[in-house]
Amino acid sequence: MNLIDAIAAQSDALRAIRRDIHAHPELAFEETRTADLVADCLTRWGIPIHRGLGGTGVVGTIRGTAGDSDRAIGLRADMDALPMTEANTFEHASKTPGKMHACGHDGHTTMLLGAAQYLAANRDFAGTVYVIFQPAEEHGGGARVMMQDGLFEQFPMQAVFGVHNMPGIPAGTIALSPGPVLASNNEFALTIQGKGGHAAMPHLAVDPIAIAAQVIQAFQNVVSRNVKPLEAAVVSVTMIEAGEVPNVIPGTCTLRGSVRAYTAETLDLIERRLGEIAQMTCAAHGATADFHFQRNYPATFNHDAETAFAREVIAGVVSPGALVAQVPIMAAEDFSFMLQEMPGCYAFIGNGDGEHRDAGHGQGPCLVHNTSYDFNDEILPLGATYFVRLAQAWLAR
Ligand SMILES: [Zn+2]
Ligand SMILES: [Zn+2]
Repeated sequence: MNLIDAIAAQSDALRAIRRDIHAHPELAFEETRTADLVADCLTRWGIPIHRGLGGTGVVGTIRGTAGDSDRAIGLRADMDALPMTEANTFEHASKTPGKMHACGHDGHTTMLLGAAQYLAANRDFAGTVYVIFQPAEEHGGGARVMMQDGLFEQFPMQAVFGVHNMPGIPAGTIALSPGPVLASNNEFALTIQGKGGHAAMPHLAVDPIAIAAQVIQAFQNVVSRNVKPLEAAVVSVTMIEAGEVPNVIPGTCTLRGSVRAYTAETLDLIERRLGEIAQMTCAAHGATADFHFQRNYPATFNHDAETAFAREVIAGVVSPGALVAQVPIMAAEDFSFMLQEMPGCYAFIGNGDGEHRDAGHGQGPCLVHNTSYDFNDEILPLGATYFVRLAQAWLAR
C-alpha cells in the first residue's frame, strides 16, 4: 500500500482528532464545536476558511503554487452524529447520552483534515482544492443547504468527491462502481381516521387498528406485485401509533415508514400505489385516510468518467489491491444532491471486520447506526491519502 509517508507519520495525531470528535458528537446543523475544531485546524495549517454555508459548514481553500490554473476540485466530508446513545465504554466514547458518532462522520472529517494538512504543506500543484465540511448528512440534507447557500457559485470546481466508511469491507480497500450506488430516501405517514369506542362493542366503532393491519399487508404487495422484478425497491412500515388502554378502540391509527428506490419511475409508482391502497382500504371499511409522502434524498449516481478516474487513482497510485467493486445498496446519502449538479464519485472505504472495537462491545462486523459501532482509526491514513491523490491527479489532468 502506497500511503503518503507524511500522512502515515501523522497517524497518531489523526487518531487523536478522530477520537476527540467522537467523544463530542453533535446532531444535524448543531455541529458548532466540530466546525470550530475543523476551522482551527485549517487556520493553523495556513488554509483560508469560509464559514456559514449551511449554518455550520466550513470550506477551506488550498491553492497550488505550481502555476496558474482554473482547475479546481471539491473534496467533501460530513460532520454530524446521530441521536443514539452509545453502548461502547472505551475512553473516547460519546460524552453526551443520546448523541453518538455511529456513522463514522468523525472519521470522514478527520480523513479530510489529514488530506488538507498535507496539501497545505505540499502545494506543488496547479489549481485549487476546496475541502468541504458539511453539516447534517443524517437529517436535513446539509449538502443541499450548502448548495442553496451558494457552495458551487462561491467555490467553482469541475468535480466533487466523497467517501463513506463501510463495515464489512476489508480495511485497506476502497470500493466503488459507476452509476447507481445508493437509493433515494423517502418517507410516508398515514393517519387512519376511524371511530373510537368500547372494546366490547366493536360494531359501534370503526377500528383503525384492524384497518391498519390490512393496509400494512397490502403495502407489502407493492414491491412484490407492482414493481418490476428487476427494479430495486423497499417499502418498510417502521412505526405504528394507536391506542392507550386495552379496553378502548382508539379513534385513529398512524403508520409511518420508509421507501427506497433507484429510478423516478419506480418511486412514482410506489407513491401512487401506497396512496391508492391507503385511500381505498380505509374507504372499504368506513374510515378515512390522510396520506403524506415526502421525498428526502435522491438516489446517488456516480458519474462514469469521474468514477473511472477515481479507480485509476486507487489502483495506480495507492495500490491495485486497494480497489474493490461495490454493489448498489438501498441506503441513501445527501451527497446525491452534489452529484446531481456536479460530476463526481462517491466511494466506500473499508472499515474492516470490526476487530478494532473493544472486546465485550460487539466485536466482529457491526454496521453503521449500531450503538456498538466505532470508526476504525487504522484506515485514516488511507482515506487521507486517497483524497490527496485524487486532488493531485485531478489538477494535473
Ligand atoms: Zn448514517
Ligand atoms: Zn453516514
